[in-house]
Amino acid sequence: MKIVYDPKHVLHRPTKEIDRGKFIENPEKPERIEAIKDALIMNGFDNIHSPNSFPMSYVYLVHDERYVKWLKNKCVSLEPDEEYITELFGYDLCFDTGTPISNWTFDAAKRAVDVTLTAASLLSGRTNLVYALVRPPGHHATRGACGGYCYFNNAAVAAMYFLSRGNADGVAILDLDFHHGNGTQDIFYETDEVLYVSIHGDPDIFYPWVSGRESETGQGPGEGFNINLPLPPKSDWRKYSEALEQALREIRNYYPDVLIVSLGFDTHADDPVGGFSLKDDDYGLMGKAISKLKIPTLVVQEGGYNPRANASAAVKFFSALV
Ligand SMILES: [Zn+2]
Repeated sequence: MKIVYDPKHVLHRPTKEIDRGKFIENPEKPERIEAIKDALIMNGFDNIHSPNSFPMSYVYLVHDERYVKWLKNKCVSLEPDEEYITELFGYDLCFDTGTPISNWTFDAAKRAVDVTLTAASLLSGRTNLVYALVRPPGHHATRGACGGYCYFNNAAVAAMYFLSRGNADGVAILDLDFHHGNGTQDIFYETDEVLYVSIHGDPDIFYPWVSGRESETGQGPGEGFNINLPLPPKSDWRKYSEALEQALREIRNYYPDVLIVSLGFDTHADDPVGGFSLKDDDYGLMGKAISKLKIPTLVVQEGGYNPRANASAAVKFFSALV
């Protein structure tokens, strides 16, 4: 397995967010990714590549120019160490109060896209598994707004990369983060070129609340190519594995050329943000089930907020997936 990683992700350090009117600590910290990297290296996964820089045209395959320019201008306008947080839902091009913007945010988001695209470009006949070990995450970012700690939708940009390069007619995205990937759903809702399948906490209870219901199945040519599998709080492997089997069946039927896994470890019982009850060993079962698809796979890191749980889950997952 090849891993793509950019040590400069540590410069992206959101410190706070607003939750119910109060400032709280922001959990999207560099340690989340550093713990995974260290644990993977200790377990022999040491084929680590640095990212190349890709043109902004790839970002524009997914995101509106108005949003990209707004984000860039916002970053430039801030002093070093200053953090801008949208204080009202829907007030500007950030849709929540948990996604701070600083001087460095635009560069961090673009570098995350570069890591993901480098990983996508490494996927070839001989290499059928590449891991973009990346942050900030991406699956909440919509075409026109940031939110949920996400600025550019890394997995969506990778899907467009595969489609635009002509090395795939169909791409499946399997979103295993605890939270529904409202951004990825939004971006591909009206196309049949990307199948989006997500297993996540019930949005009647959990973030992002606005989307992730079973009734959201796609629109126009995309009808039937968006599949949401919400699960109740505290879901354990017994419940989760049923949803996973269904997700894998849908992907098998779609017969994609490439699979992108949006991987979040916030499904772990010890995660401070998510609300499921998965244990370390369950991630081995998860990796094994996905490996049976035998489809070239790009894994893109999304959430997961307990560094120790991230590390042990990642080792189990990738040991079984390779
Ligand atoms: Zn999440």
